[in-house]
Amino acid sequence: MATPHDSKNLEDPSYYTEGVRRRDKRILAKTITLIESARYEHQKLARKVVNDLLPDTGKAIRMGISGVPGAGKSTFIETIGMHLVAQEHFVAVLAVDPSSQRSGGSVLADKTRMEKLSTSDHAFIRPSPSGGTLGGVARKTRETMLVCEAAGYDVMIVETVGVGQSETTVASMVDFFLLLMIAGAGDELQGIKKGVLEVADAIAINKADGDNVERADIARKQIEAALQYLIPTSPLWSPKALTCSSLDPDDAGIKAIWSAVQEHRRILLESGELNRKRCRQAVDWMWSLVEEGLKERFYRIPEIKLRLPKITRQVEAGDVSPTIAADELLFSLDNTKSV
Ligand code: GDP
Repeated sequence: MATPHDSKNLEDPSYYTEGVRRRDKRILAKTITLIESARYEHQKLARKVVNDLLPDTGKAIRMGISGVPGAGKSTFIETIGMHLVAQEHFVAVLAVDPSSQRSGGSVLADKTRMEKLSTSDHAFIRPSPSGGTLGGVARKTRETMLVCEAAGYDVMIVETVGVGQSETTVASMVDFFLLLMIAGAGDELQGIKKGVLEVADAIAINKADGDNVERADIARKQIEAALQYLIPTSPLWSPKALTCSSLDPDDAGIKAIWSAVQEHRRILLESGELNRKRCRQAVDWMWSLVEEGLKERFYRIPEIKLRLPKITRQVEAGDVSPTIAADELLFSLDNTKSV
């Protein structure tokens, strides 16, 4: 049935801002589609909408989750999500998966993988924007997060699978970063690529159930020992090593993880660290947008397009040094009016 809002101009930013503010899921989804669109007019409109909504953002708890495929991320999100929804929280689940080329998003945060949560009035699940660079995907997810906050979702869960730099990228947009792992032969170190443990505020060994309980606890102790050698994410917080079972809706481990998230938030809020962290993240975000924009503009310069193949061959053949080639290419940047 048509609502009075359907007749509103789809190019009018207030159509989106008003719809988002009254948590109309259909308009929220349309707004995110605008953010994800490559079309210039859509981008322009999305920027205006996000900017207009900014005063309504920032109040949510932002939580990032990573882990290898099969670690149990979506099962965990379903369970913790239902736990939060039962406490009257509004939960938005987003994803960052730059490897996803499928139209309509990736398997991450797929609705069918969070069956109960996806049908809850208090939850909103959106798959990763598909395709594009990690920077591009992350920008869209950040803006989507702001829009969801403006819609009144007070817990943001951003899921990522460990592809390239995606964990550190997600860690740079959230308050609390959780690494989900599983115990097993040599598995204690799985997925721990350089830098990932360093950005984790908690590490949870999932599937601590059945005859796996003991192994999970051994893995937890090993992680706890490894954490001693790392510099914590904040001087006020020592990263926690925990175990949980995502299959159990009442699992004490899941509740302990949520308590850790809340304790972390309380400590960082009281000390002013949360605010400083978010300010730092905002400035870092600006610089990554500038860097991405510079690169994009560089490759669009006709002279660069023309010279790049030849100069690359010359460097490959050893006829021109990389330093001279780079200098020459960057010189074209100085001389280009379009930049
Ligand atoms: P993801 O790829 O990280 O999202 O992992 P999934 O959530 O899809 O889980 C992978 C498999 O592990 C599924 O078959 C789940 O049912 C199972 N699984 C997830 N969490 C648990 C758990 O806590 N205990 C047990 N025994 N199985 C689990």
